[in-house]
Amino acid sequence: MSITKTEINEFISKFTVENANNDVNVILLSGKNHNILIDSGYPPTSEELHKALREISNNQVKIIINTHHHSDHTGANHLFDSTVICHDHARDRIRGKFYNLSGYIEKGVGDITISKDMTLFLDDKKIDVIPLPPSHTNGDMIIYIEEYRTLIMGDILFSKSFPFIDINNGGDIDGLINTYKWIIKTFSQVEKIIAGHGPDMDLKSFTEYVQLLEESYGFIRKSLNSGETKEQILGSDKFNELKGKLSDGERLAPLWIDIISNYISRSENPGKISIMYPMTEYIEKGDIPAAISFYRENSKSEDYSCNETDMTMIGYNLLFRDRQKDALKMFKLYVEAYPESSNSYDSLGECYMNMNDKKNARINYSKALELDPENEYIKGILEKIGS
Ligand SMILES: [Zn+2]
Repeated sequence: MSITKTEINEFISKFTVENANNDVNVILLSGKNHNILIDSGYPPTSEELHKALREISNNQVKIIINTHHHSDHTGANHLFDSTVICHDHARDRIRGKFYNLSGYIEKGVGDITISKDMTLFLDDKKIDVIPLPPSHTNGDMIIYIEEYRTLIMGDILFSKSFPFIDINNGGDIDGLINTYKWIIKTFSQVEKIIAGHGPDMDLKSFTEYVQLLEESYGFIRKSLNSGETKEQILGSDKFNELKGKLSDGERLAPLWIDIISNYISRSENPGKISIMYPMTEYIEKGDIPAAISFYRENSKSEDYSCNETDMTMIGYNLLFRDRQKDALKMFKLYVEAYPESSNSYDSLGECYMNMNDKKNARINYSKALELDPENEYIKGILEKIGS
């Protein structure tokens, strides 16, 4: 695990915490007598994060503001003795309600929840905490620090790639795009935009990013509606041109298409629930075999919707909670259910990497590359693993 520290100015520092292939940004606001942390990373990195924070300031982290519930942002809350502020809709999800798996989190789940703007002061610096309409999830907040014209976005911004939208947790694509436009209009003075994942942006690059996403969203929607498959879209010149404008567009491109496709079918079939809900109940009880049987027996049922995004989420939820063996079983089920998907093998490969099993990681990444031979991201990983 490595942590990269960036002192943005005397008040704001950014810690980029290594996280498989999706490094997460944690922000420290340093006061004279105490500090505020925006997101906490997750337990495997907490010790190093503590150390890195102390290099900036020894003051206590009195308050943690969580931009949303996902465990790579809230998973180390309980290790700080802090008051946690989150969105009204995020608290239950941090606690593991709905089908977010609970884990080690008993403490630090949210002491104060809000649904309207809130202003905090650290010394004389004004910190605006702004809950958003459904975007990345239905419990997102952004933080604006006026004195430094800095906006901290959490996961409504993946600045190197396509967005991830957690539709099962109330995320909304149209909502996200509207939020982006509202931000551009409202924060015309902003100079620095800090993403949940990826490098900082300024208003100009952010505006261009939003235009690109909107264009890709429109293109994918139109293509899906006219009956094109994911593979056809991935192979199209137009999509490749758009993808090429993002520095890490490759990695989340297939997922972006899946998310849009799920979003459309969800709005057309509002009665169906994700098979993740009942599966997670079994997983919560520790009964992985029951979850797998449930999937095998019900995945074709009219009552449930199943898709690759959900399968990915179940596996990563377990991986983030250090339940690697359980995650492995779920990623194997993902491969069983989607044997033609490069992403299923890629995810299984990542799980093996996480378990330091390079041999099996290589086998699965190679299979992923076989199914998606142009994928530069997978080529890079295979090079890194070596022979
Ligand atoms: Zn997130």
